[in-house]
Amino acid sequence: MSHIPLSQPDITDREIDAVVATLRSGRLSIGPEQEAFEHAVANASGRTQGVAVSSGTAGLHAVLLALGVGPGDEVITTPFSFIASANCILMAGATPVFVDICPKSLNMDPARTEAAITAKTKAIVAVEVFGNTTHLRELERIAQRHEVALVEDCCEALGGVTACGRRAGSFGRASVFGFYPNKQITTGEGGMIVTDDHALADRCRSLRNQGRTPQAHHGADRAAGSWLAHQQLGYNYRMSEITAALGNAQMARLPQMLDARRRVAGDYMRQLMDCDDLVLPTVEAETDATMSWFVFVVRLGADYGRVERDRIIDGMKRHEIGASNYFPCIHLQPFYQERFGFKKGDFPIAERISERTLALPFYNLLDERSIELICRTLRLMVDRERLLKR
Ligand SMILES: *Cc1c(COP(=O)(O)O)cnc(C)c1O
Repeated sequence: MSHIPLSQPDITDREIDAVVATLRSGRLSIGPEQEAFEHAVANASGRTQGVAVSSGTAGLHAVLLALGVGPGDEVITTPFSFIASANCILMAGATPVFVDICPKSLNMDPARTEAAITAKTKAIVAVEVFGNTTHLRELERIAQRHEVALVEDCCEALGGVTACGRRAGSFGRASVFGFYPNKQITTGEGGMIVTDDHALADRCRSLRNQGRTPQAHHGADRAAGSWLAHQQLGYNYRMSEITAALGNAQMARLPQMLDARRRVAGDYMRQLMDCDDLVLPTVEAETDATMSWFVFVVRLGADYGRVERDRIIDGMKRHEIGASNYFPCIHLQPFYQERFGFKKGDFPIAERISERTLALPFYNLLDERSIELICRTLRLMVDRERLLKR
C-alpha cells in the first residue's frame, strides 16, 4: 500500500454504464436524466422542487439572485466554511456579514446570528459544516421571526438528519447541494437547488438557462421562439445529461454510501477516542440525529497552535497520508481583508479552531487497515509535538 489520498470518489460499473448509455442516447443536455436527478435529490431532502445546476457555487449564486439579494443588502454567514458560501454573496453584489461559530458544532452561532440582523439584512446563508445539521432549525426560526430569507448551504450534508427528524436540504427558502468529487455523492462537477417554492424554483431555472422562460427547450420540443427569447440577464449554469446520469447512478447507491462513510467515521472515533491531545468531531447526543459524514476533521487541543498543526500535516504527507487544513477562515483570505477590512481577532472562536483543525483521509472505500495506519501515524506526530513542547 502506498499513498492514501485525502479523498476519492466511489465510482462503480453502474455509473460507467449510465454515462455510456447517455452518450449513446444522443441527448446530451436538458433531458430525462436531469429531470430524474432533480426528483431524486428533491425527494431525498423532503422538497418538491429540484433545479440541477453546474456547481454548488452556481446554485448558491442563482438562489441569492432569485431571492432579490443585491447591492446594498447584507447577508449573514459563517467565516468557517468553504469559501463559496461567502463568495456567492459577493457575486450577488451584496455585503457579507460574518458571525462567529459554536465551538462544538462548528456551525454559525444562532445567538450571534440573531444579534447581527439589521434593517439591511436580506438573507442568512447557513452552512452545515462538515455535514453537521446542528442549529439549522433554530436558524430557520430566527430567519422567520425577522422576516429574512434563510438559504441552506447543505453542500456538505446530503443525507444528514437532525435530532428532530428534519433532513438536510429541508431548511429555509431554498437549499443547495454540491457534487464535487469529495462530496457524499459526486457528478464530477455539479449542484442542486431544492425548494418547496415553485416561483423561486422557476426563477432559478430561468437564471441557469440564460434568462429564458423556465419551460424553454432547444430542438424538437421547443416552444416556438422560446430558445432565443431572454427575459432577463441569466447565466449558463446548466447541468449536462451525462453529468445527471452519473448523479442518478450515485443517488441509487446513496444509502449504501452513507453507511460506508459512517463505518469509516466510527473506526476513526474508536481508534482516536483516547488521544488526549485531540478533539474529535462532536455529534449531537440525541439518538436519532444522523450525521452525514463529509470529512473527518480533528483538532489539536487548546495547548497547540498553527505551527504544530502545520508540522503534523507535513509529517502525515511525508508518510504518504493525505491531510489538509480544513478550513482557513474566509474573512482572513487576502481579498476579503483588503475589501472589507477584516483582520485577525475579528472572529476569535473560528480563528482559534481553524488554526488547529486537520482533515484526515476520508472516503467510502477507506479500509480498516489504512485507518489504523493513519491513526498510528497521527498519534506519533502528536506525541512528537507534545515532547517538543516540554
Ligand atoms: C463544496 C461546497 C460548495 C460548492 O462547491 P462547488 O465546488 O461549487 O460545487 C459550497 N459550499 C460549501 C460549504 C461546500 O463545501
